[in-house]
Amino acid sequence: MSKPRLVIVGGGWAGFYLVQYISTDQYDVTIIDPRRTFANTPLLASAAVGLFHFHLAEEPIRSRNRVDIQFFKAYVTSVDFESQTCHCEPNFDEELDSFKVEYDILVLAPGCQPNTFGTPGVEENALFMKNVSDAMALRKRLLDLFEQATLPNTSDAKVKELLHIAIVGGGPTGIELVAELDDMAKDELSKIYPRAASKLTISVYDMADNILGNYDKDLWQYANEQLAKRKINIETNSTIEKVDANHIFIKGKPTVAYGILVWATGNKESGLTESLDVRKSEKGLKRIMTDSNLRAYKDSSQVWSNVYALGDAADIDGNPLPPTADMAVQKAKYLLKVLASPSAPKAFEASNKETVSYLGSGDGVTESGGKGNAAWVAWRAGSVSWSRSLRGRIGILVSWALNSLFGTEIASV
Ligand SMILES: Cc1cc2nc3c(=O)[nH]c(=O)nc-3n(C[C@H](O)[C@H](O)[C@H](O)COP(=O)(O)OP(=O)(O)OC[C@H]3O[C@@H](n4cnc5c(N)ncnc54)[C@H](O)[C@@H]3O)c2cc1C
Repeated sequence: MSKPRLVIVGGGWAGFYLVQYISTDQYDVTIIDPRRTFANTPLLASAAVGLFHFHLAEEPIRSRNRVDIQFFKAYVTSVDFESQTCHCEPNFDEELDSFKVEYDILVLAPGCQPNTFGTPGVEENALFMKNVSDAMALRKRLLDLFEQATLPNTSDAKVKELLHIAIVGGGPTGIELVAELDDMAKDELSKIYPRAASKLTISVYDMADNILGNYDKDLWQYANEQLAKRKINIETNSTIEKVDANHIFIKGKPTVAYGILVWATGNKESGLTESLDVRKSEKGLKRIMTDSNLRAYKDSSQVWSNVYALGDAADIDGNPLPPTADMAVQKAKYLLKVLASPSAPKAFEASNKETVSYLGSGDGVTESGGKGNAAWVAWRAGSVSWSRSLRGRIGILVSWALNSLFGTEIASV
């Protein structure tokens, strides 16, 4: 008897976890993603500043241990739930013919995309932090700017403009990047570019009243104070109206010149999620609504019994959960159990993993109220645990050892 065809859309935290562990004795498995690697998002900022090589912040979706899994490098552009067919566009520089993939069971995990809120100029001029190409682009831009700043004919005023890093978004992703960049400036760039590094400024812009607003008041206050002590310029209550190639235009405030602009303001639904004819959340981020067994709702009351949705793209009706890697993995683990023995599964139950935010200089905060060095240790240990392979974990530990002896990759290459 032929095995049921299980098709997974998206090779991110949710989809990649599934293909690492799904039984190919039980299912004929296909995964479709426009990128051939899984992006280990919590490691991107560290890779960008050279704490370890970029390849440690990603994993190939194809694996020599899992050759029985089919992978197609393509976008799923639409799904016909009646005929159980995914329509796909190959993702290559050259235009190739579209194709169809039929499924018996479908798992939707296309994640989200950065939300620019339609702010003019952001798509064209800002950097994002979603995958390894983004982390590479940030490192390249940073080093290019430092080289420009040290040219003999670059004026002091221009140096100041070039070496202004603007991060838009004061949530955990933006603040973690600020912390890593500040550490890099103090530990490495100050040695390689002693004159220019002293001119570097890092600013955080957020339309809210404070940064890290998801934490309790004493924690976000602590974070604000600590970052201010490190001369990070925190600009809250700042609504960005538009940006151009060198300037940020802020409502009611003076225009600011920048050398690097990183946009880290949160999520918007992916093009695929937007196009799907399924029930979605009504407020805020549009996510595919599922029941407590992660089956996608086709309308207000009925689910598709053979369509599951998880990760950032999905949420459980009546039990909203945060769009995090941790939650994507918890749901993937649950779905593996359901797929292994599909009859009468128990409802999904989430467990809460503590959030840790790094603030730079060996300092951090944890959701439960931890502050200081212990939070930093927890955060760094997290880097190893986030890695999805033994090779990756060893690579990170070896990189740290080499960094302590010779400086980071930025200093040594
Ligand atoms: C810089 C950064 C740091 C983060 N740090 C943390 C952290 O420390 N802890 C934490 O818990 N969370 C963290 N997150 C959040 C975490 O990355 C997300 O919650 C997680 O990636 C969600 O997993 P997912 O599988 O739903 O989506 P993703 O991991 O985004 O994967 C979605 C995949 O779907 C693919 N895809 C998109 N559209 C299509 C399509 N049409 N067809 C086929 N494939 C498609 C994409 O290419 C992608 O590979 C961080 C996020 C960022 C950006």
